[in-house]
Amino acid sequence: MNAPTIKEATREVPVADRSDVVVVGGGPAGISAAVTAARCGASVTLLERYPYLGGLASGGMVLVLDDMHNDTEITVTGICLEMIERMKMKGLCVTPEDHERMPDMRDAPEMWRKYARWGLFDFHTQKMPHPICFSASFDPDGFKRATYDLIDEAKVKLRLHSWFSSAIVEDGQIKGVICDTKEGRQAILGDVVIDATGDLDVAASAGARFQESSFILTTVSRWGNVDTDRAEAFQFDEPERFQKLDHEAKRIIGGCWAYWWLKTPLPGVVWLNCPHMPKYSGLKVADLTAAEFEGRARIDQLLAFARENMPGFEKAHIVDFAPQTGVRTTRLLEGEYVVTKEDVMQRRYFDDTVCRGRDYYTPYRALLPKDIDQLLVAGRHYSATPQAQKKSREIPPCMAQGQAVGVAATQALNAGTVVRDADITAIQKQMRALGADPGDKPSANASFLEAAE
Ligand SMILES: Cc1cc2nc3c(=O)[nH]c(=O)nc-3n(C[C@H](O)[C@H](O)[C@H](O)COP(=O)(O)OP(=O)(O)OC[C@H]3O[C@@H](n4cnc5c(N)ncnc54)[C@H](O)[C@@H]3O)c2cc1C
Repeated sequence: MNAPTIKEATREVPVADRSDVVVVGGGPAGISAAVTAARCGASVTLLERYPYLGGLASGGMVLVLDDMHNDTEITVTGICLEMIERMKMKGLCVTPEDHERMPDMRDAPEMWRKYARWGLFDFHTQKMPHPICFSASFDPDGFKRATYDLIDEAKVKLRLHSWFSSAIVEDGQIKGVICDTKEGRQAILGDVVIDATGDLDVAASAGARFQESSFILTTVSRWGNVDTDRAEAFQFDEPERFQKLDHEAKRIIGGCWAYWWLKTPLPGVVWLNCPHMPKYSGLKVADLTAAEFEGRARIDQLLAFARENMPGFEKAHIVDFAPQTGVRTTRLLEGEYVVTKEDVMQRRYFDDTVCRGRDYYTPYRALLPKDIDQLLVAGRHYSATPQAQKKSREIPPCMAQGQAVGVAATQALNAGTVVRDADITAIQKQMRALGADPGDKPSANASFLEAAE
């Protein structure tokens, strides 16, 4: 039965701001897009619903930057590497410093022992132990702080507490967006709008085609007062006993990756990328509410078990649950090109490649909606099949996409053309000039390895 409806009265909405480029969503993709467009000379407004920036990387407490290194080089550079450097300067980020100097050591058991509990390994391979690779474990507030510095320096006009509500579209062209705020509804106008909401809120509202997709939800938590040295020694020195207890812990949590706890840059604080909750949709209020309760209940049970049974966890306690529910996928754009799993797995190169992840390429057409002009998308809702998105949605590739659309928006504005006709060669050139990797000349990245160490 259809739910009853009411009719909303039409309203006058004040125009609160106007910019060349309006970015909606201050997660990894949106931050990169906004900073890049501003660095390229555009006036930029960045809108975010929550009182902080970072999206799942900070509010979701998803604390490893991975999928940015192939067998030989760092493939996601630019703003992502800048963030790593900035967080490292604050002592809030850990990378495997020595592995590049000893490439033959990546598979060595001692490397695994040293870095695996940071989550700094290549989880794509079947090889066990997984090879250690360039990736970064970071602190969520460190991510926020580094982001604020970037946004501030680039003079991006930031509007937090602004919840996107609807797209303003005239004759097939997006003209801006309307947000709900404590001050009431506000219109923000722009010549180009970038949807970086992760859930394709703007493009869907504008009428772009998309498909719905869902995967496991997770309420990430952090535990404190864990003796990680003892816990690691137990794992490596008493493997059989460890296996038994670890297996039981996994049964209790009911769905998790191989390592259910990982270290963070804060001593004694670990993060848990679990439980896996498959039956919920990240678009439904009732599901998101239920997931919050279920996730907490499961973590409580796991904590009780760990405290009682697992060496190193005797005095552990919950520090916090991520304020943002861990939603991996909801709506996926059906753009000018839809990236497939085969494209990702076979490392297919496209003539309009503008960025890349670990070893796969993203064509500009996958960031372009079909029917709406002056709208670009970046991040986990980009135009890909669910199977392809699953393999290409990590934070670094989302940041690379953000950087590419930030460049594309300003290139098009400067050239007096629409974003659909942006000059691909010019985007690639500008990406490289900004220290970002457009994926066109992979071997030219060697110098970034040194810079990142
Ligand atoms: C539990 C979990 C674990 C993961 N583990 C890892 C990992 O270890 N490493 C890794 O690299 N990746 C991991 N990922 C994937 C990664 O976190 C995401 O794919 C990535 O953060 C996507 O970035 P994004 O900018 O596209 O979207 P998001 O990070 O979702 O950011 C979107 C932003 O838009 C804002 N927004 C949304 N809707 C609106 C609106 N209507 N109005 C205003 N603002 C809005 C949000 O508040 C948010 O700030 C994980 C994801 C989950 C859920």
